[in-house]
Amino acid sequence: CGVFGIYAPEQDVARLTYFGLYALQHRGQESAGIATFESQKVHLHKDMGLVSQVFNESILDELPGNIGVGHTRYSTTGSSHKANAQPAVVETRLGKIALAHNGNLVNTLDLRSQLLEDNHNLVTTTDSEMIALAIAQEINKDKNLDWLEGTVRALKRCKGAFSLVIGTPEGVMGTRDPNGIRPLVIGTLPGNPVRYVLASETCGLDIIGAEFLRDVQPGELVWITEEGLASYHWNKQEQRKLCIFEMIYFARPDSMMHNETLYSYRLRLGKQLAAESAVDADFVFGVPDSGIPAAIGFSEASGIPYSEGLIKNRYVGRTFIQPTQSMRESGIRMKLNPLKDVLDGKRVVIVDDSIVRGTTSRKLVKALRDAGVSEVHMRISSPPVTHPCFYGIDTDTQDQLIAATKSVEEISEQIGVDSLAYLSWEGMLKATQEDTNTFCSACFTGDYPVPVPDRLKASKLM
Ligand code: 5GP
Ligand code: SF4
Ligand code: MG
Repeated sequence: CGVFGIYAPEQDVARLTYFGLYALQHRGQESAGIATFESQKVHLHKDMGLVSQVFNESILDELPGNIGVGHTRYSTTGSSHKANAQPAVVETRLGKIALAHNGNLVNTLDLRSQLLEDNHNLVTTTDSEMIALAIAQEINKDKNLDWLEGTVRALKRCKGAFSLVIGTPEGVMGTRDPNGIRPLVIGTLPGNPVRYVLASETCGLDIIGAEFLRDVQPGELVWITEEGLASYHWNKQEQRKLCIFEMIYFARPDSMMHNETLYSYRLRLGKQLAAESAVDADFVFGVPDSGIPAAIGFSEASGIPYSEGLIKNRYVGRTFIQPTQSMRESGIRMKLNPLKDVLDGKRVVIVDDSIVRGTTSRKLVKALRDAGVSEVHMRISSPPVTHPCFYGIDTDTQDQLIAATKSVEEISEQIGVDSLAYLSWEGMLKATQEDTNTFCSACFTGDYPVPVPDRLKASKLM
């Protein structure tokens, strides 16, 4: 999911939030929502669909206020309907909160039973709504608590991955779980006084002319009000476990992580891939858009010329995000079209960022063969995905992951390529130029940084 937050009384916060969400659209295409605070009053609009489908000028005009909170939803295991759209607005003793969540909690069963103690008709709620309700529960049960104390007590009850933006009548909070699995950045808007913005990625700052200040740290809570920005560390067991999949695939290539664009990181992945699994071919190309930076890196390191081989229809959404398998399969054909005369009779290297189910690759290879290529060598700029994600990326249940049950050779045969090679786990981490321990890479190793309760594990593992 994509989350966004802003405190800026002198600005049109609804429009700025809208633009921020527009830049974060790739993080979720299922639903979009904006809540604004006009002192104690909350204005909310959310619906299924893309940001551009959910909002228009007149809807934005009905969202006045000085605080904005926005969300684009990417459906993980939960069902996809309007009730799950965010921000989640909940009433508390101190006023309303509007909460936008990116990530996935692993202790929802415990949370649910704790919430049921006070709220017996709690029926279906998402993990995100549960966080909002837990904050309300803490604030309501102890009359001495303020916004921050109540929120921190609730955060301590949450286990898993959560980057949150929480609007209140007084200000907006931004926080990350103690492992910092999902990203969240702080930006500043030019002007006097300086105003602060929160976004899942730096591309959400660029679009509104905000300047990147820094990341929200794992286990940190920032509180942005009329007084500026205050920071609190609410968890002492902080460690860095940023999702490596954000770096490889999920986040936009123009977003900055670790002081460089992800384009630069992905270029190095491609170079490393070429070093690990060289092959002779006429040209190399990437699967648009996510495979392109690594393909360029592969070309640079191998000396094999780079060319376009497939053209993407930009108006078809990300295949993976469409909810059903049959939709996914037809979506792929709609989306990528081979350049027949360029490919005819050629030996090609095709680079993609990942193979999850193997559906994309199989279809693509068939399309390339139909276009007349003589040899297809597939190179993947990440290791085989063997384990499901419990922290908010929809890599499906383990039985759906092609590499969970098949060897590289078997996969190669199934997708119909002449050769297939994945990047090594070491190579993927080495290319980050950061400490290996500072990432979650559980979908490649099964080594989950936040323990997954057995019942949840059983729902996704074979
Ligand atoms: P597959 O057909 O193997 O299931 O899908 C892999 C392709 O889907 C890659 O090109 C990758 O860029 C894309 N993709 C889209 N969304 C996701 C996602 O959430 N996770 C992963 N691993 N790949 C995704
Ligand atoms: Fe990211 Fe994989 Fe960890 Fe999930 S399991 S948070 S996708 S690295
Ligand atoms: Mg892709």
